[in-house]
Amino acid sequence: MASAFGLDRGDAVELDRCDPLAGFRDRFAPVEPGLIYLDGNSLGRLPDTTADAVATAVRTGWGGGLVRSWTEWIDYGSRLGDRIGRELIGAAPGQVAVSDSTTVNLYKLAAAAITARPDRDEIVLTGDDFPTDRYVLAGLAHQHGLTLRSVPADIDEGLDIDVLREAVGPRTALVCLSHVAYRSGALLDMAAVNRIVHDSGSLVLWDLCHSIGAVPIELDGSATDLAVGCTYKYLNAGPGSPAILYVRSDLQDRLRQPIQGWFSQRDQFAMGPVYEPADGITRFLTGTPPILAMVPIEEGVSLLAEAGIGALRAKGSLLTEYLIALADHRLAEHGFRVAGPRDPGRRGSHVCLHHDEAWRISRALIETANVVPDYRTPDRLRLGVAPLTTSFTEVWDAIDRIRAVAAQRRYERFSTESARVT
Ligand SMILES: *Cc1c(COP(=O)(O)O)cnc(C)c1O
Repeated sequence: MASAFGLDRGDAVELDRCDPLAGFRDRFAPVEPGLIYLDGNSLGRLPDTTADAVATAVRTGWGGGLVRSWTEWIDYGSRLGDRIGRELIGAAPGQVAVSDSTTVNLYKLAAAAITARPDRDEIVLTGDDFPTDRYVLAGLAHQHGLTLRSVPADIDEGLDIDVLREAVGPRTALVCLSHVAYRSGALLDMAAVNRIVHDSGSLVLWDLCHSIGAVPIELDGSATDLAVGCTYKYLNAGPGSPAILYVRSDLQDRLRQPIQGWFSQRDQFAMGPVYEPADGITRFLTGTPPILAMVPIEEGVSLLAEAGIGALRAKGSLLTEYLIALADHRLAEHGFRVAGPRDPGRRGSHVCLHHDEAWRISRALIETANVVPDYRTPDRLRLGVAPLTTSFTEVWDAIDRIRAVAAQRRYERFSTESARVT
């Protein structure tokens, strides 16, 4: 197959030499020599300033300041939220907060949306949405006596928005979708989807987990209602770092979320007898935020902001395009097929390859080839390229090692049995 890229290793070295973001690789804690990490879309790497920033928060904020530090900490989630809004997701201040996990935020915002549409009885999602989204929405549907309307999405190409247009209507209360599909990497046109949803009079809730930090997002500009997203993937904030939530300003006072914790109370320290939701984004908070787990978000967002989301997207697109060119050229003959959109404008920052032996190949890559991808059902090897940390040479070497594992059938000695974590 003809390719726009030179496909020798020397060409990869040249791409790295011309990469304006190449210097950011040295701003992360080094990994062991020879390791190629292609799972930054699942758990981003550790920025080299983060350990000290956390240590300072522990020693100075907690150890020294003790309870007095709460004056600083109390609004930390909103301050961080405003910064993420400005740098990464096109949201004016007062609409984003860091709080809880993506799962919990999804529950809060979806519940708020469906209670705001009491005369409607359907929640629309796709069968290919991330499991936590589907499970949370199923639970809410059960709890509120609503119907889940799961529209078909192509496992490789994602949701066709004409299919969505047919599915939404006067019964739809809420449409919940992923901006970038977790398996195929398919990217949806947020503004176009929002128009369809709003024409039906319903609300939209976006899951940004696989796009935030990798793809430019314009929440205000696209008239998004609600969004959630995590900070441990492209934001490099560490395992279990809390998530973000976005509620458009004109909706905030019209929505009520179901977890009526004291951090969402109007006059929190009056400790009054009756719950009264605060104004603004504060009403979507719950309880005491995990301050120490929020500190790394600051470090991760600083790096992304310094690089700029436009440059990150440009490099992410080039990396996935290069990966696909190499996969076509070197892996197709060994049973691999690109299982995601080929148009870079319709793709996030990871690529899925289909192979009948994807599970055992993923094991063999980790155990024998020093490449860390991940496996997603069914039969897919998922390769995440993080624009801040992945080099073109790593992509070239990874494809070369994948080819060797497949060609030499090195996966055959691994068990076909699944593991607790894939
Ligand atoms: C990673 C991911 C999540 C994770 O949710 P948690 O509450 O952090 O476990 C949710 N949705 C999508 C689409 C994801 O990719």
